[in-house]
Amino acid sequence: MLEAKRQAKLVAARQRYEQTMQKHPELWAIESKLVELYRQKVLREGNFVLAAWEEQVAALQKQRNQYLRQHKIPLNFAEPQWDCPLCQDTGIFQGQMCNCERQRLLESRFRGAHLPTRLREQTFDQFSLDWYSAARKTPLGNSEREQAAAVLHVCQAFVAAVMENPRDASGIFLTGQSGLGKTFLCSAICHSLAANNIVPLYIVFSDLISDMRASFQHDSGDADLLAMAREAPVLILDDLGAEHVTEYAISRLFDIINYRRNERLPMVISSNLTLAEVERIYSQRVFSRVIEACQPALLYGTDIRSQQRRLGIS
Ligand SMILES: [Zn+2]
Repeated sequence: MLEAKRQAKLVAARQRYEQTMQKHPELWAIESKLVELYRQKVLREGNFVLAAWEEQVAALQKQRNQYLRQHKIPLNFAEPQWDCPLCQDTGIFQGQMCNCERQRLLESRFRGAHLPTRLREQTFDQFSLDWYSAARKTPLGNSEREQAAAVLHVCQAFVAAVMENPRDASGIFLTGQSGLGKTFLCSAICHSLAANNIVPLYIVFSDLISDMRASFQHDSGDADLLAMAREAPVLILDDLGAEHVTEYAISRLFDIINYRRNERLPMVISSNLTLAEVERIYSQRVFSRVIEACQPALLYGTDIRSQQRRLGIS
């Protein structure tokens, strides 16, 4: 299945190359000279001088790139368009399961997961501070809009820190009432990291728990799901507190957060709950791990989804 898709992309890239060459004879002329030069290098014809050869290749490549830019053709037009540049859609990177494959496995196990669409649409560029009031004050003394700007900054700084060194990136506990843009920001973080070749694991906590319980009850083992959540390079745990809180959920949550804190693996947790409620509902030890691993980021306002609809953003 994966392989068939990969082959189709390789074929598409080849077709794109051929069609472009047919449409652009000038480009084809440059390309032919390059091909001829590579042939000469392999055969080492005549009195082959590597330095001279390299000079000729560099000059032609420069010409080629100039032509492409002038005609608004992407420089990588002949390369296959991989969903995951890391593993080139093989699902295997450096001898191990690639994160994109982990995410696929996880999504295929979750009922009704609709992350891919959200991931495409909800980016930092699409996030608007206009959804938050510049007039209403938060309990912190600033306006709701100023506070949203601060939270946005925390989220973008998190992405930058992960890019720099994941083990130094402090996590985020993103809190606020429902409809204030928490999932939007989670998606934007995912999107931004994925664009930089880091594929985070995004899960809605209630989905994870019900899926782990189902595997547990059917004896197929919940350990692999737990391991994925524990070991993903970056974990985005969305909507903590929406699940049915049980001893099982609490112990799994502790397990995940404790492991990640000890291994210094970054995470973002979003929740309608305040930190005080986390302590009351999930126990003191969950609370203490959360505040050790994450900085709180609080959103205030009124449901932004109605405003998004008004502004024509779904
Ligand atoms: Zn991959």
